[in-house]
Amino acid sequence: MLIDTYGRVATDLRVSLTDRCNLRCSYCMPEEGLQWLTKPELLSDDEIVRLIRVAVTDLGITEVRFTGGEPLLRPGLVGIVQRCAELEPRPKMSLTTNGIGLRRTASALKAAGLDRVNVSLDTLRPEVFKTLTRRDRHHDVLDGLLAAQEAGLTPVKVNTVLMPGLNADEAPELLAWAIDHGYELRFIEQMPLDAQHGWKRDGMITAGDILTSLRTRFGLMPEDEGARGSAPAERWIVDGGPHRVGVIGSVTRPFCAACDRTRLTADGQVRTCLFAQEETDLRGALRSGALDEEIARIWKAAMWGKKAGSGLDDPSFLQPARPMSAIGG
Ligand code: SAM
Ligand code: SF4
Repeated sequence: MLIDTYGRVATDLRVSLTDRCNLRCSYCMPEEGLQWLTKPELLSDDEIVRLIRVAVTDLGITEVRFTGGEPLLRPGLVGIVQRCAELEPRPKMSLTTNGIGLRRTASALKAAGLDRVNVSLDTLRPEVFKTLTRRDRHHDVLDGLLAAQEAGLTPVKVNTVLMPGLNADEAPELLAWAIDHGYELRFIEQMPLDAQHGWKRDGMITAGDILTSLRTRFGLMPEDEGARGSAPAERWIVDGGPHRVGVIGSVTRPFCAACDRTRLTADGQVRTCLFAQEETDLRGALRSGALDEEIARIWKAAMWGKKAGSGLDDPSFLQPARPMSAIGG
């Protein structure tokens, strides 16, 4: 098991498949993009599958989420999913994507064994989308969402970050739209993980702001405490049910005490937390011929050092050197 000194057990693995992206969301990366990892730095498909196999068969991982950067840009994605679906015990598998390219890949991903997707969409207004992501691809994301649903990658969840002066007023409209389409909407508080270090505590839209805005149009009842488990989203029952909306208050309502995550970057580094300063190198071990037991031992030792919390509430908080797109969000 991947257990830490606070008794938390990691069963959920987030795997970043690439740090590259075809959008430039302003809360994530600068307009000019970033210095991408080079091919030799990236784990190969075989290396990724091997590490996931060790995680699933030796370390108790039961859920795998593929992310990035934009994971649909990884050429070997369908093959990686297919090989992971053959593992015993078979992990649950999902994908976080900006949705561009899902129309083309959704049914192949489903056939390969992917269970479901989270698609990121922050606005229903094409012009706002263009400003926020610096690309004119709103239509492709909406179409990707439809394709995911048609392919049965359900429940389709939609991730939304609200930004002041851009889409902050859209929360009720987005919820009405999500309910209409059968998508499960989750708002994520903006976190200090952008490459440009532009995040400001004063400027961010908080979970409290989001709930106030939603309540102008909907009745919200908190879901039972027990139903949340280790999920980061607090869920609310909308207008008496059956629809729900999630709010992930990573900054103002942290859920670190129940965290069950471990993370693997596209260049083979284990991270215990999005906000960790430390990384543990598995790629070096892999490439120097380590046996599975040795890889498992290194991974366990890394998780044993997991901190109690993100440190976001500490005035001396330091943003990690890698941005969200390079860690894997
Ligand atoms: N490219 C894919 C996507 O956008 O879904 C996967 C990677 S992206 C880093 C994963 C999630 O992180 C997205 O839902 C995105 O909105 C969110 N995200 C990125 N930067 C963020 C930030 N600074 N604060 C909060 N969420 C952020
Ligand atoms: Fe790309 Fe996702 Fe970052 Fe947007 S949030 S720039 S889609 S990695």
